[in-house]
Amino acid sequence: MSGSRVLVLNSGSSSVKYQLLDMRDGGRLAVGLVERIGESGSRLKHSPADGESRERNGSVPDHDAALKAMAAELDRDGLGLGSPELAAIGHRVVHGGLRFTEPTVVDDAVLAEIERLIPVAPLHNPANLTGIRTAQALRPDLPQVAVFDTAFHTTMPESAARYAIDVETADAHRVRRYGFHGTSHAYVSRETARLLGRAPEDVNVIVLHLGNGASASAVRGGRCVDTSMGLTPLEGLVMGTRSGDTDPAVIFHLMRVGGMSADEIDTLLNKRSGLIGLCGDNDMREIRRRVDAGDERAGLAFDIYIHRLKKYIGAYYAVLGRVDAVAFTAGVGENSAPVREAAVAGLEGLGLAVDGGLNAVRGDGARLISPADARVAVAVVPTDEEMEIAAQTYALVNDSGNQNLT
Ligand code: AMP
Repeated sequence: MSGSRVLVLNSGSSSVKYQLLDMRDGGRLAVGLVERIGESGSRLKHSPADGESRERNGSVPDHDAALKAMAAELDRDGLGLGSPELAAIGHRVVHGGLRFTEPTVVDDAVLAEIERLIPVAPLHNPANLTGIRTAQALRPDLPQVAVFDTAFHTTMPESAARYAIDVETADAHRVRRYGFHGTSHAYVSRETARLLGRAPEDVNVIVLHLGNGASASAVRGGRCVDTSMGLTPLEGLVMGTRSGDTDPAVIFHLMRVGGMSADEIDTLLNKRSGLIGLCGDNDMREIRRRVDAGDERAGLAFDIYIHRLKKYIGAYYAVLGRVDAVAFTAGVGENSAPVREAAVAGLEGLGLAVDGGLNAVRGDGARLISPADARVAVAVVPTDEEMEIAAQTYALVNDSGNQNLT
């Protein structure tokens, strides 16, 4: 294989995010986003490394049109999809079930399996599939690699992955805990080990991926042993718009007493809960502004968010037995000093503390924010899912040899 570039595609239901990376040096040649696909006011933003960012507004009726618009922008920068430099296209695929434990070169059987998993990922897998099929049509000769959000979590033991419900019923409907954000948890746990100057195999890390979606994971020696999201990304932490953990009986109660349908409750728990349901805002910056101004609803929302986070830190401390580091990542984790401070406040007994000065410093790179003599390192480790997808894609197509792939 001669090319060293990898195009990473993250296809959502109404958006496509893309990055073109050069794997010789990890450089980003172009970054872009097409949003509001199939809606009015579609928009493309494209930022080449060697030039001005460009924005286009106009109709983008479907993913095919979105990827063609992306391809046209890349062409303008001399980075077109026809280039022999392009080694592969790496796709983020949200649900890989139990079968996909590794990144996988896409063929018809792989596409069929991703399709079979639609019932457990109805919002994500259809869009991911459309992205792959559209990219295949654009470059049929190129290896397309699926990198699964669930893959990192397939090492969870059955004791963590199973719900305590009737085994036959669970298995018949593939009901179990799969976990998500795996590409981020894998990357961040490895980068945390690197920050500590130790091998990933020797380090136990609690990763807190706190974005609009949020999840925690317990990683022992580089392998995930528990994570907070479950059958779907609804379980676990309080998120921007998702409730996280609730008593399942809340659903029956809302059906029987509240007269709500399953779809209405689905929307309630996924879109009108979490921070936005509690206080009307899901952006942590705005919530903190309101808290600082004495807003009680925002204050309660913040406290509920932190309380849940602390419970997971404690739970995963117990799961791991020994913890070397707690790593904060994603939009909130990387940027919100008050969240980090509040999450570990009072956990000195577990060896956890943040240094106020270090925590307040803003920066781009991975950094420690715990006091120098802390028993457990607390770190801010920026996630980079695109780089991880590109690296896994590139490694796979190089390992596989050239004969079937190019
Ligand atoms: P993500 O899903 O990782 O892109 O994270 C998005 C979320 O990060 C937003 O909804 C905000 O709540 C949060 N966020 C982004 N920037 C900041 C910031 N400077 N301070 C606090 N929260 C932030």
